[in-house]
Amino acid sequence: ATPAATMVGTTIGAKNGVLFTGGDILERTKDVDTVVFDKTGTLTEGEMELTDVIALDGESRSVTDGGEAAVDGGLASETSNANEASEESDPNAPSADRVAGEDRLTEDDVLRLAATAERGSEHPLAQAIVEGANERGLELAEPDAFENVPGQGVRATVGSDEVLVGNRTLLRNNGIDPSSAVETMERLENEGKTAMLVARMPAGTGDGKPENNDGSDTDNDGELVGVVADADTVKDSARAAVTELSERGTEVMMITGDNERTARSVAERVGIKPENVRAEVLPEDKSDAVAAIQADGRQAMMVGDGVNDAPALAVAHVGTAIGSGTDVAIEAADVTLMRDDPLDVVKAIRISDATIQKIK
Ligand code: ADP
Ligand code: MG
Repeated sequence: ATPAATMVGTTIGAKNGVLFTGGDILERTKDVDTVVFDKTGTLTEGEMELTDVIALDGESRSVTDGGEAAVDGGLASETSNANEASEESDPNAPSADRVAGEDRLTEDDVLRLAATAERGSEHPLAQAIVEGANERGLELAEPDAFENVPGQGVRATVGSDEVLVGNRTLLRNNGIDPSSAVETMERLENEGKTAMLVARMPAGTGDGKPENNDGSDTDNDGELVGVVADADTVKDSARAAVTELSERGTEVMMITGDNERTARSVAERVGIKPENVRAEVLPEDKSDAVAAIQADGRQAMMVGDGVNDAPALAVAHVGTAIGSGTDVAIEAADVTLMRDDPLDVVKAIRISDATIQKIK
């Protein structure tokens, strides 16, 4: 393309909120044959809302306690929890208050523990949990210690408890078996929600480092107490963007740190094929995942919004930062979309296609 043509393309882009960082980027964009979308904040609004709080039944969790536990999957029914919650008239009773001699917390207890642990986290999943607790009028203590475990969750010291909120990996790494909650998590995840486990152990036990060969950790007696779930809304134009890209012959993929089921449920809603979903990708592995996609000669455009996405944007043939993306993402990007609209990804590619065709 002539300098004049790329100039025209770049200007048309700018007028449409599509900022190419240079004429070479505009030219390169026409060669994109694969678009890889980050999920959270890119295909979805990234504004999570707390949707479910479930207290797990401590009694039926034990391995030796078979029969009945197997039937209800180790769950305290939500109805019985509601009854117990109403008996306990003060919603701000200390979290250590267990139900009449039983080793089970109420839903409010579970939410209070989770929200207290998440107070120090800026993760959208965490903020939704804290807001949910505030809406229910729960008073939250200040944790004595707090640690972010990237791609897994958080770990906080709350009174005499060490509280964990996060995914299956976080619990396994702390020696807590998540299997009694698996059915519940899968149900929530199939609804497209992100389900998180809530566990606690006496403070000072468990070092977060796997002791055994299989990655598990057995140096503490932690206890799984509940499950909380957040849901995010898919952006209105996400599906249209995927359709238009497919019509151009562009392969559309999705990459996320979120689990396989939630990822597939979101993918299905926007029209991305299940085999094109890369889920449970750790933040530091996102760029490798993009490199792997490009390894067979594909020219990928990676579209993302977060700090997590910056290395992947840099590796991609074209890195695109979307909307209210973080500064780090924008700095790593070749293209910045001013609006928060996935259809502008299509616009960027169309502008490049049109500009380059004109000169041929
Ligand atoms: P994404 O790539 O979708 O933005 P992350 O890499 O930040 O996701 O996190 C991956 C997974 O780790 C989440 O889906 C969640 O299960 C867990 N996780 C991360 N941060 C938190 C947190 N603060 N609280 C609970 N769970 C978390
Ligand atoms: Mg994101």
